[in-house]
Amino acid sequence: MEATQQEQFDRSTVQARTAQIAQHLSALEWITEGPRVERLSTDFAWFSPVLKRDLAGLVADAVVRPTTEDEIKSVVAACAQAQVPITVRGSGTGNYGQCTPLHGGVVLDLSAYNQLLWQRGDVLRAQAGLRMVDADRATRPNGWELRCVPSTFRSATIGGLYGGGFGGIGSINYGPLASTGNVLGVRAMTIEPEPRVIELRAPEALLLHHVYGTNGIVLELELALAPAHDWAESIACFGDFENALRFADALANAPGVAKKSVTLLAAPIGDHLLQLAASLAPGQHAVLCIVADSGSQALRELCAAHHGTLTHHKTAAEVAASNRTIAEFTWNHTTLHAMKVDKSLTYIQSGFVSGQHLQQARAMRELFGDEVLLHLEFIRTKEGAMTASGLQLVRYTTEARLNEIMQLHQQHGVYIANPHVYRVEDGKQGQINPDVVATKLQFDPQGLLNPGKLKGWWVRDALMADVRAGKVSLATLPRF
Ligand SMILES: Cc1cc2nc3c(=O)[nH]c(=O)nc-3n(C[C@H](O)[C@H](O)[C@H](O)COP(=O)(O)OP(=O)(O)OC[C@H]3O[C@@H](n4cnc5c(N)ncnc54)[C@H](O)[C@@H]3O)c2cc1C
Repeated sequence: MEATQQEQFDRSTVQARTAQIAQHLSALEWITEGPRVERLSTDFAWFSPVLKRDLAGLVADAVVRPTTEDEIKSVVAACAQAQVPITVRGSGTGNYGQCTPLHGGVVLDLSAYNQLLWQRGDVLRAQAGLRMVDADRATRPNGWELRCVPSTFRSATIGGLYGGGFGGIGSINYGPLASTGNVLGVRAMTIEPEPRVIELRAPEALLLHHVYGTNGIVLELELALAPAHDWAESIACFGDFENALRFADALANAPGVAKKSVTLLAAPIGDHLLQLAASLAPGQHAVLCIVADSGSQALRELCAAHHGTLTHHKTAAEVAASNRTIAEFTWNHTTLHAMKVDKSLTYIQSGFVSGQHLQQARAMRELFGDEVLLHLEFIRTKEGAMTASGLQLVRYTTEARLNEIMQLHQQHGVYIANPHVYRVEDGKQGQINPDVVATKLQFDPQGLLNPGKLKGWWVRDALMADVRAGKVSLATLPRF
């Protein structure tokens, strides 16, 4: 399908209209100073040398930080009337330039729209800007916590996880955020001169998920919670990779051990984690484990059975008292710490096939040797099967070689979610999704939300003609 309707915005017109909107709505908190606007127009795309180059210099014309739904509505109405692009931002910890505007306009920073509205048993409802750390702080005393959080949970928002994230710590039990039953409802705003507010219940509640804020502004989220355990933290070290791999898999699968995350870092990744140096002997393979206090003895048994050494163990009470957590060395925090030590590193994101994941991990390690360092996060798939997701560190040489490395993974049956691209379909989504395009037509008929990020928008007319002709069917019929 040909891309015929790419966005066209005249930069100086957008700039002038943004300034008028800021003047007109001067009671709101606006940020217009260059360096701050630049900072709030970027995220952690610099993990990728390719994105760093491709997104350089892209910046909003102003940032607004509303605190109420009425304030959000006034900005959205003004932007829709003036045809000014809006890019929603939570805390800006995304990895793919997700909150970097390609065509200027307004960055709508929702970090101050952050009230926890209610918790009823195992369900939480909150405004999109609530930071995950604050959600957990509020619900843990009641015995509940978020089901999965990224390693950026201290700063990242629930709206940002929904809009741009995947899952993380806890996905070993509940799968990615997109697994049925995790997201129960969203309240979202349309981008129209008179914005409407619409409540979507599951399964439609996932229609706006992981589309980089191109499909509607999420105001509130209703999420199912998990029972909060007393989480102890351990690091097991192994001289032999095979033992480390088998231990990690055995622990991930052990049904009697309540756990929150199992992370395998093949040598020499551990050598880059300087703050954990006391627990990581050079050249060792490390498994970072977050397991309930009640599972500590089982973990020791499994570790001994696989000839490992437990080099770090803190009970839940000790973890809480220290205010430090090994969670901040897992997922893309591993990448962050490693890149601080070795600037030549970048990373890839992969998904192994459940049941073949150990075999595939071994094969990829063998194939690439020291060029691609294996980092596995054990998780459940959307369907519930145990597998591993890879955040391999790559010794970067050229863009061509980076692409070749990803292609070689694909040729060996390993799924790749390319983190070196900034459009939705080039990343995890992988292809144009007619449901996403149909939803955008309802929520953002003028194409003002984070324009340029959704390729499906460029072929909307042809796609919807195919839907009407019965050539393409929509999986989830939007009923609004
Ligand atoms: C060191 C590091 C570790 C990470 N670890 C993980 C991980 O374990 N798992 C994981 O999934 N991700 C991870 N990430 C990516 C990111 O931190 C998470 O996805 C996080 O949840 C994003 O939240 P945020 O508030 O920072 O969102 P932002 O970066 O501000 O926004 C992300 C996207 O969502 C959109 N968006 C934000 N709020 C809304 C809203 N209210 N309505 C509509 N769209 C919205 C934005 O437009 C943007 O496209 C990591 C990133 C880094 C740098």
